[in-house]
Amino acid sequence: MATLVDGFGRTFPYLRLSLTEACNYRCSYCLPDGYQADGRPTFLTLDEIRRLVRGFAAVGMRKIRLTGGEPSLRKDLPSIIAAVSATPGVRKIALTTNGCRLPQLVRTWREAGLTALNVSLDSLDAARFAAITGHDRFAEVTEGIEIAQTLGFDAVKLNAVLLRGLNDDELPAWLNYLRTRDVAVRFIELMRTGDNREYFERHHYRAEALEEQLIASGWTQQTRAADAGPAREYAHPGYRGRIGIIAPYSKDFCAGCNRLRVTARGDLRLCLFGDFGIPLRPLLQSDADHEALTARIATQLGLKAAGHGLHQGNTGITPHLASIGG
Ligand code: SAM
Repeated sequence: MATLVDGFGRTFPYLRLSLTEACNYRCSYCLPDGYQADGRPTFLTLDEIRRLVRGFAAVGMRKIRLTGGEPSLRKDLPSIIAAVSATPGVRKIALTTNGCRLPQLVRTWREAGLTALNVSLDSLDAARFAAITGHDRFAEVTEGIEIAQTLGFDAVKLNAVLLRGLNDDELPAWLNYLRTRDVAVRFIELMRTGDNREYFERHHYRAEALEEQLIASGWTQQTRAADAGPAREYAHPGYRGRIGIIAPYSKDFCAGCNRLRVTARGDLRLCLFGDFGIPLRPLLQSDADHEALTARIATQLGLKAAGHGLHQGNTGITPHLASIGG
Protein backbone atom coordinates (compact mmCIF):
# COMPACT_ATOMS: atom_id res chain seq x y z
CA MET A 1 0.00 0.00 0.00
CA ALA A 2 1.38 3.44 -0.97
CA THR A 3 2.08 5.86 1.88
CA LEU A 4 3.03 9.52 1.79
CA VAL A 5 5.92 10.32 4.11
CA ASP A 6 7.34 13.83 4.53
CA GLY A 7 10.87 14.94 5.36
CA PHE A 8 10.14 14.66 9.10
CA GLY A 9 8.89 11.05 8.96
CA ARG A 10 5.21 11.99 9.25
CA THR A 11 2.62 10.01 7.22
CA PHE A 12 -0.64 11.40 5.83
CA PRO A 13 -3.63 9.06 5.84
CA TYR A 14 -6.05 11.96 6.46
CA LEU A 15 -7.31 14.57 3.97
CA ARG A 16 -9.54 17.52 4.80
CA LEU A 17 -11.38 18.68 1.72
CA SER A 18 -13.26 21.98 1.67
CA LEU A 19 -16.40 21.85 -0.49
CA THR A 20 -17.25 25.55 -0.37
CA GLU A 21 -16.04 28.81 1.15
CA ALA A 22 -19.65 29.96 1.68
CA CYS A 23 -21.19 29.82 5.15
CA ASN A 24 -24.59 30.92 6.42
CA TYR A 25 -23.33 31.55 9.98
CA ARG A 26 -21.57 34.65 11.26
CA CYS A 27 -19.36 33.14 13.97
CA SER A 28 -17.75 35.99 15.84
CA TYR A 29 -14.24 34.44 15.54
CA CYS A 30 -14.51 33.42 11.87
CA LEU A 31 -16.92 35.35 9.60
CA PRO A 32 -18.48 38.02 11.86
CA ASP A 33 -19.81 39.94 8.84
CA GLY A 34 -20.98 36.80 7.05
CA TYR A 35 -19.62 35.27 3.89
CA GLN A 36 -18.91 37.75 1.10
CA ALA A 37 -18.85 36.13 -2.35
CA ASP A 38 -15.98 37.49 -4.41
CA GLY A 39 -17.04 36.39 -7.90
CA ARG A 40 -13.91 34.28 -8.44
CA PRO A 41 -14.22 30.85 -10.13
CA THR A 42 -16.58 28.30 -8.68
CA PHE A 43 -15.83 25.49 -6.28
CA LEU A 44 -14.71 21.99 -7.28
CA THR A 45 -17.35 19.99 -9.17
CA LEU A 46 -18.43 16.45 -8.36
CA ASP A 47 -16.25 15.04 -11.18
CA GLU A 48 -13.22 17.02 -10.00
CA ILE A 49 -13.78 15.81 -6.44
CA ARG A 50 -14.04 12.21 -7.63
CA ARG A 51 -10.66 12.49 -9.42
CA LEU A 52 -9.04 14.31 -6.52
CA VAL A 53 -10.12 11.69 -3.97
CA ARG A 54 -9.00 8.86 -6.26
CA GLY A 55 -5.59 10.52 -6.49
CA PHE A 56 -5.19 10.94 -2.73
CA ALA A 57 -6.43 7.40 -2.05
CA ALA A 58 -3.76 6.09 -4.43
CA VAL A 59 -1.03 7.69 -2.29
CA GLY A 60 -2.34 6.35 1.02
CA MET A 61 -5.24 8.56 2.13
CA ARG A 62 -7.73 6.44 4.08
CA LYS A 63 -9.83 9.03 5.85
CA ILE A 64 -11.43 12.12 4.36
CA ARG A 65 -13.21 14.94 6.12
CA LEU A 66 -15.58 17.11 4.10
CA THR A 67 -15.66 20.63 5.45
CA GLY A 68 -15.88 24.26 4.41
CA GLY A 69 -17.37 26.97 4.69
CA GLU A 70 -20.58 25.12 5.36
CA PRO A 71 -20.57 21.90 3.29
CA SER A 72 -24.31 21.33 3.73
CA LEU A 73 -24.98 24.41 1.58
CA ARG A 74 -24.01 22.25 -1.41
CA LYS A 75 -27.08 20.59 -2.87
CA ASP A 76 -24.94 17.79 -4.31
CA LEU A 77 -23.49 16.85 -0.89
CA PRO A 78 -25.16 13.37 -0.83
CA SER A 79 -23.71 12.64 -4.30
CA ILE A 80 -20.27 13.81 -3.13
CA ILE A 81 -20.46 11.54 -0.06
CA ALA A 82 -21.53 8.61 -2.26
CA ALA A 83 -18.69 9.25 -4.74
CA VAL A 84 -16.07 9.43 -1.97
CA SER A 85 -17.55 6.31 -0.36
CA ALA A 86 -17.19 4.41 -3.65
CA THR A 87 -13.47 5.30 -4.00
CA PRO A 88 -11.26 2.23 -3.46
CA GLY A 89 -9.05 2.67 -0.40
CA VAL A 90 -11.22 5.23 1.44
CA ARG A 91 -12.38 3.71 4.73
CA LYS A 92 -13.75 6.67 6.68
CA ILE A 93 -15.76 9.68 5.52
CA ALA A 94 -16.41 12.39 8.07
CA LEU A 95 -18.27 15.69 7.71
CA THR A 96 -17.89 18.88 9.72
CA THR A 97 -21.07 20.97 9.73
CA ASN A 98 -22.72 23.77 11.66
CA GLY A 99 -25.76 21.47 11.80
CA CYS A 100 -28.31 24.12 10.89
CA ARG A 101 -30.37 21.64 8.82
CA LEU A 102 -29.24 18.47 10.54
CA PRO A 103 -32.72 17.05 11.37
CA GLN A 104 -33.74 17.19 7.69
CA LEU A 105 -30.45 16.06 6.13
CA VAL A 106 -28.48 13.75 8.42
CA ARG A 107 -30.27 10.52 7.45
CA THR A 108 -29.57 11.14 3.75
CA TRP A 109 -25.87 11.66 4.48
CA ARG A 110 -25.69 8.46 6.49
CA GLU A 111 -27.44 6.50 3.71
CA ALA A 112 -24.97 7.95 1.16
CA GLY A 113 -22.08 6.46 3.15
CA LEU A 114 -21.01 9.03 5.74
CA THR A 115 -19.29 7.26 8.66
CA ALA A 116 -18.62 10.08 11.15
CA LEU A 117 -20.11 13.46 11.93
CA ASN A 118 -18.72 16.59 13.64
CA VAL A 119 -21.20 19.30 14.58
CA SER A 120 -20.15 22.71 15.82
CA LEU A 121 -21.78 23.61 19.13
CA ASP A 122 -19.96 26.47 20.82
CA SER A 123 -22.35 26.70 23.76
CA LEU A 124 -24.96 24.62 25.55
CA ASP A 125 -26.89 27.81 26.26
CA ALA A 126 -29.27 28.80 23.43
CA ALA A 127 -28.85 32.56 23.89
CA ARG A 128 -25.05 32.34 23.99
CA PHE A 129 -25.08 30.03 20.98
CA ALA A 130 -27.05 32.65 19.03
CA ALA A 131 -24.73 35.44 20.16
CA ILE A 132 -21.57 33.56 19.10
CA THR A 133 -22.84 32.20 15.77
CA GLY A 134 -25.26 34.96 14.75
CA HIS A 135 -27.98 32.32 14.31
CA ASP A 136 -30.76 31.27 16.64
CA ARG A 137 -30.57 27.58 15.62
CA PHE A 138 -29.71 25.90 18.92
CA ALA A 139 -32.93 23.82 18.98
CA GLU A 140 -32.46 22.44 15.44
CA VAL A 141 -28.77 21.69 15.96
CA THR A 142 -29.29 19.83 19.24
CA GLU A 143 -32.31 17.94 17.82
CA GLY A 144 -30.13 16.90 14.87
CA ILE A 145 -27.39 15.68 17.23
CA GLU A 146 -29.93 13.48 19.05
CA ILE A 147 -31.07 11.99 15.72
CA ALA A 148 -27.48 11.43 14.59
CA GLN A 149 -26.81 9.33 17.69
CA THR A 150 -29.43 6.81 16.53
CA LEU A 151 -28.01 6.31 13.03
CA GLY A 152 -25.01 4.08 13.75
CA PHE A 153 -22.19 6.53 12.95
CA ASP A 154 -18.71 5.40 14.06
CA ALA A 155 -18.50 8.71 15.90
CA VAL A 156 -20.60 11.80 16.58
CA LYS A 157 -18.41 14.65 17.77
CA LEU A 158 -19.23 18.19 18.80
CA ASN A 159 -16.82 21.07 18.26
CA ALA A 160 -16.75 23.91 20.77
CA VAL A 161 -14.23 26.73 20.35
CA LEU A 162 -13.05 27.92 23.78
CA LEU A 163 -13.75 31.64 24.17
CA ARG A 164 -12.67 33.63 27.20
CA GLY A 165 -15.63 35.49 28.69
CA LEU A 166 -18.13 33.91 26.29
CA ASN A 167 -18.25 30.17 27.08
CA ASP A 168 -15.28 29.38 29.34
CA ASP A 169 -17.53 28.60 32.35
CA GLU A 170 -19.47 25.76 30.70
CA LEU A 171 -17.48 22.70 31.77
CA PRO A 172 -20.11 21.69 34.40
CA ALA A 173 -22.88 21.91 31.78
CA TRP A 174 -20.81 19.83 29.35
CA LEU A 175 -20.10 17.19 31.99
CA ASN A 176 -23.81 16.94 32.66
CA TYR A 177 -24.43 16.58 28.90
CA LEU A 178 -21.76 13.88 28.49
CA ARG A 179 -22.87 11.74 31.44
CA THR A 180 -25.44 9.79 29.39
CA ARG A 181 -24.66 10.59 25.75
CA ASP A 182 -22.35 8.59 23.50
CA VAL A 183 -20.78 11.68 21.90
CA ALA A 184 -17.38 13.31 22.12
CA VAL A 185 -16.93 17.03 22.54
CA ARG A 186 -13.79 18.65 21.15
CA PHE A 187 -12.76 21.80 22.94
CA ILE A 188 -10.77 23.75 20.36
CA GLU A 189 -8.37 26.48 21.39
CA LEU A 190 -9.13 29.67 19.46
CA MET A 191 -6.58 30.11 16.65
CA ARG A 192 -5.37 33.43 15.46
CA THR A 193 -6.07 34.01 11.77
CA GLY A 194 -5.41 36.97 9.48
CA ASP A 195 -8.82 38.55 10.20
CA ASN A 196 -9.35 37.98 13.94
CA ARG A 197 -6.29 39.50 15.65
CA GLU A 198 -8.07 41.81 18.10
CA TYR A 199 -10.77 39.22 18.82
CA PHE A 200 -8.03 36.69 19.52
CA GLU A 201 -6.36 39.01 22.06
CA ARG A 202 -9.69 39.45 23.87
CA HIS A 203 -11.06 35.91 23.82
CA HIS A 204 -8.15 33.49 23.58
CA TYR A 205 -8.30 30.89 26.37
CA ARG A 206 -5.61 28.22 26.82
CA ALA A 207 -6.99 24.73 26.16
CA GLU A 208 -4.39 23.32 28.51
CA ALA A 209 -6.01 25.17 31.43
CA LEU A 210 -9.19 23.19 30.79
CA GLU A 211 -7.18 20.00 30.30
CA GLU A 212 -5.62 20.44 33.75
CA GLN A 213 -9.12 20.66 35.28
CA LEU A 214 -10.12 17.42 33.53
CA ILE A 215 -7.07 15.51 34.73
CA ALA A 216 -7.64 16.78 38.27
CA SER A 217 -11.18 15.40 38.20
CA GLY A 218 -10.20 11.89 37.08
CA TRP A 219 -10.35 12.04 33.26
CA THR A 220 -7.57 9.98 31.64
CA GLN A 221 -5.93 10.38 28.25
CA GLN A 222 -6.64 7.67 25.65
CA THR A 223 -4.25 6.31 23.01
CA ARG A 224 -4.43 7.89 19.56
CA ALA A 225 -5.17 6.00 16.29
CA ALA A 226 -2.84 6.62 13.29
CA ASP A 227 -5.57 8.44 11.35
CA ALA A 228 -7.01 10.24 14.37
CA GLY A 229 -7.58 13.98 14.31
CA PRO A 230 -5.53 16.47 16.30
CA ALA A 231 -7.36 16.00 19.62
CA ARG A 232 -5.91 14.54 22.82
CA GLU A 233 -8.88 12.43 23.91
CA TYR A 234 -9.98 11.85 27.52
CA ALA A 235 -12.43 9.37 29.07
CA HIS A 236 -13.89 8.88 32.54
CA PRO A 237 -15.65 5.76 33.90
CA GLY A 238 -18.54 7.90 35.20
CA TYR A 239 -19.36 9.35 31.75
CA ARG A 240 -20.59 7.81 28.48
CA GLY A 241 -19.21 10.68 26.44
CA ARG A 242 -15.59 11.67 25.82
CA ILE A 243 -13.70 14.93 25.74
CA GLY A 244 -11.04 15.92 23.22
CA ILE A 245 -8.65 18.81 23.60
CA ILE A 246 -7.32 20.51 20.47
CA ALA A 247 -4.44 22.71 21.53
CA PRO A 248 -2.69 24.04 18.39
CA TYR A 249 -0.30 26.15 20.48
CA SER A 250 0.95 23.20 22.53
CA LYS A 251 4.52 21.98 22.15
CA ASP A 252 4.14 18.78 20.11
CA PHE A 253 1.04 19.69 18.10
CA CYS A 254 2.75 19.74 14.68
CA ALA A 255 4.90 16.66 15.37
CA GLY A 256 1.67 14.61 15.31
CA CYS A 257 0.39 16.16 12.06
CA ASN A 258 -1.10 13.50 9.76
CA ARG A 259 -3.33 15.77 7.66
CA LEU A 260 -3.30 17.52 4.31
CA ARG A 261 -5.90 19.99 3.09
CA VAL A 262 -7.41 20.89 -0.24
CA THR A 263 -9.34 24.12 -0.61
CA ALA A 264 -12.74 24.41 -2.30
CA ARG A 265 -10.92 25.71 -5.40
CA GLY A 266 -8.55 22.75 -5.56
CA ASP A 267 -5.35 24.09 -3.99
CA LEU A 268 -3.33 21.68 -1.87
CA ARG A 269 -2.40 23.28 1.46
CA LEU A 270 0.34 21.55 3.39
CA CYS A 271 -0.52 23.41 6.62
CA LEU A 272 -3.58 25.27 7.93
CA PHE A 273 -1.33 28.29 8.38
CA GLY A 274 0.99 27.83 5.40
CA ASP A 275 2.21 30.60 3.10
CA PHE A 276 1.22 29.04 -0.21
CA GLY A 277 -1.20 26.73 -2.01
CA ILE A 278 -0.35 24.25 -4.77
CA PRO A 279 -2.90 24.20 -7.61
CA LEU A 280 -4.24 20.70 -8.28
CA ARG A 281 -7.29 21.75 -10.29
CA PRO A 282 -5.56 21.67 -13.70
CA LEU A 283 -4.92 17.96 -13.08
CA LEU A 284 -8.56 17.24 -12.18
CA GLN A 285 -10.01 17.81 -15.65
CA SER A 286 -9.40 14.33 -17.07
CA ASP A 287 -8.98 10.79 -15.73
CA ALA A 288 -5.86 10.62 -17.90
CA ASP A 289 -4.05 12.96 -15.47
CA HIS A 290 -4.25 10.55 -12.52
CA GLU A 291 -0.53 9.71 -12.55
CA ALA A 292 0.46 13.37 -12.89
CA LEU A 293 -1.81 14.22 -9.96
CA THR A 294 -0.34 11.61 -7.62
CA ALA A 295 3.18 12.66 -8.67
CA ARG A 296 2.42 16.33 -7.88
CA ILE A 297 1.01 15.48 -4.45
CA ALA A 298 4.03 13.31 -3.59
CA THR A 299 6.59 15.86 -4.81
CA GLN A 300 4.99 18.84 -3.11
CA LEU A 301 4.90 17.06 0.24
CA GLY A 302 8.64 17.64 0.39
CA LEU A 303 7.85 21.32 1.03
CA LYS A 304 5.86 20.65 4.22
CA ALA A 305 7.43 22.53 7.10
CA ALA A 306 8.06 21.05 10.54
CA GLY A 307 5.50 23.34 12.16
CA HIS A 308 3.25 26.39 11.86
CA GLY A 309 4.39 29.89 12.77
CA LEU A 310 1.47 30.74 15.09
CA HIS A 311 3.77 31.30 18.06
CA GLN A 312 5.47 34.05 16.08
CA GLY A 313 2.07 35.51 15.12
CA ASN A 314 2.46 34.23 11.55
CA THR A 315 -0.96 33.06 10.35
CA GLY A 316 0.16 32.44 6.74
CA ILE A 317 -2.35 33.18 3.99
CA THR A 318 -5.39 32.10 6.01
CA PRO A 319 -7.73 35.10 6.64
CA HIS A 320 -10.27 32.88 8.43
CA LEU A 321 -10.85 29.14 8.66
CA ALA A 322 -13.88 29.22 6.31
CA SER A 323 -11.49 30.13 3.49
CA ILE A 324 -9.45 26.94 3.75
CA GLY A 325 -11.71 24.40 5.44
CA GLY A 326 -11.51 24.29 9.22
N1 SAM B 1 -19.19 25.24 8.81
C1 SAM B 1 -18.70 24.05 9.41
C2 SAM B 1 -18.79 24.14 10.93
O1 SAM B 1 -19.34 25.12 11.44
O2 SAM B 1 -18.38 23.21 11.59
C3 SAM B 1 -17.32 23.64 8.97
C4 SAM B 1 -16.26 24.70 8.81
S1 SAM B 1 -15.73 25.48 10.31
C5 SAM B 1 -14.49 26.55 9.69
C6 SAM B 1 -14.86 24.16 11.12
C7 SAM B 1 -14.54 24.36 12.57
O3 SAM B 1 -13.55 25.36 12.70
C8 SAM B 1 -15.72 24.80 13.42
O4 SAM B 1 -15.84 23.93 14.52
C9 SAM B 1 -15.32 26.18 13.88
O5 SAM B 1 -15.85 26.48 15.13
C10 SAM B 1 -13.81 26.09 13.88
N2 SAM B 1 -13.12 27.37 13.80
C11 SAM B 1 -13.34 28.37 12.93
N3 SAM B 1 -12.49 29.41 13.15
C12 SAM B 1 -11.70 29.03 14.19
C13 SAM B 1 -10.61 29.65 14.90
N4 SAM B 1 -10.17 30.85 14.56
N5 SAM B 1 -10.04 28.97 15.90
C14 SAM B 1 -10.48 27.72 16.24
N6 SAM B 1 -11.48 27.09 15.62
C15 SAM B 1 -12.10 27.73 14.61
